[in-house]
Amino acid sequence: MLQPINVGHKSLADYATLVGPTLMGELGALAEPLRGRRVLNLSATAFGGGVAEINYTLVPLMRDAGLDVEWRVIGGQDEFFEVTKAIHNALQGSPEGLTDAQAEIYRLYNRRNAAELEGEYDFVIVHDPQPAAVIEHARASGRHWIWRCHIDLSTPNPSAVDLLAPWWRAYDAAIFHRPEYVPATEGLPTSYIWPPAIDPLAPKNMALSPEDARYIIDQFGIDVDRPLLTQVSRFDPWKDPLGVIDAYRLVRDVYPGTQLALVGSMAHDDPEGWDFYNQTVAYADEDPDVFILSNLNNVGSVEVNAFQVVSAAVIQKSIREGFGLTVSEALWKARPVVGGRAGGILSQIRDGETGYLVDSARGCAEACLAVLADPDRARAMALAGKEDVRRRFLMPRLLRDWLVLFNRLDGNDVGAAELTTVEESR
Ligand code: UDP
Repeated sequence: MLQPINVGHKSLADYATLVGPTLMGELGALAEPLRGRRVLNLSATAFGGGVAEINYTLVPLMRDAGLDVEWRVIGGQDEFFEVTKAIHNALQGSPEGLTDAQAEIYRLYNRRNAAELEGEYDFVIVHDPQPAAVIEHARASGRHWIWRCHIDLSTPNPSAVDLLAPWWRAYDAAIFHRPEYVPATEGLPTSYIWPPAIDPLAPKNMALSPEDARYIIDQFGIDVDRPLLTQVSRFDPWKDPLGVIDAYRLVRDVYPGTQLALVGSMAHDDPEGWDFYNQTVAYADEDPDVFILSNLNNVGSVEVNAFQVVSAAVIQKSIREGFGLTVSEALWKARPVVGGRAGGILSQIRDGETGYLVDSARGCAEACLAVLADPDRARAMALAGKEDVRRRFLMPRLLRDWLVLFNRLDGNDVGAAELTTVEESR
């Protein structure tokens, strides 16, 4: 239980020319009063999904800014992760509520993990619902506790909100991607709204030449001379891979050579993943132009990068989506993006200006067809989207938001540095 995660080293200075001097100067000033502060990140997995993706960069960059930062992953048997997936689904609006037995399993594993927490921290950042109840048994280990929510809480099942609310109330601050995610429940701590970010220098997002990308993609049996549509995401019903297959079939009716890649890793805290992976494979019905790949096919970060670079359009057809890092990842590579009109995707795509927002398989297909019919226009839109990502969704901006919050909680004067609370954003 409570495994420490090794994240390696990163240097903030490497990002200077990508984000500009103003932000870099601000980061220096914000970091100064926080030197040596101890920070603990608690999350459910170090592999697969957005939280892991963010922490592998944010933790080393916070360290480079002078803070003493750890990241630990909570432990549990399958029964625990089955329950936390049910909680995740209920928070995203699934009609299935939670049983008392499930709630008890959730409490039990949170208590066990809390018992292993050693040391004293200035700030404890708890990511998502899985470890949210650790605070009950470990409050004294941290001066300030912050709950960081990464999921789409816009239409939650009330049973999940009722289960978690008593723990949420114990935190000193909470952070959500969008204002409509803040649960309508009494007594929440001050809730801030800020989006996550991608790492432009990570192997997932670093510049990869079209030649190298084609060389990589060719190794998966894909014909790089024919159009490729790609969705990169966990095998999860909320990501709607079956809808993506429907859309691909409609596109193929018009452009018969079109291929589809569904690239999805299996997160350790996602026991549903395999079932849904099998359902997706069955739905593809042995179509030789549909490629369903995962980390088991050696699709790591560089390969995801290559898929995004080579694709005619990158799809993220989610029905619920906390943020959807894959959208910013694709826009950063100036690829045309077709996204579901859901949650955090709305923050990243300006419909018709930087990409396409869709509500159905047919809408998704029509957007892909528009991209294939006029690739120059689609690319111009994606380039505009890339500049949005540079301003709003790169990691130094996320680091800034955290440093402002730490300073506020510590009572330090942060001058004009702003953060948006949910009240201000409404
Ligand atoms: N990802 C990956 N390989 C995969 C599937 C996903 O590297 O096979 C990455 C993806 O590139 C992104 C993250 O996992 O960085 C998923 O984050 P997102 O916010 O899109 O969704 P989440 O999984 O957090 O719901």
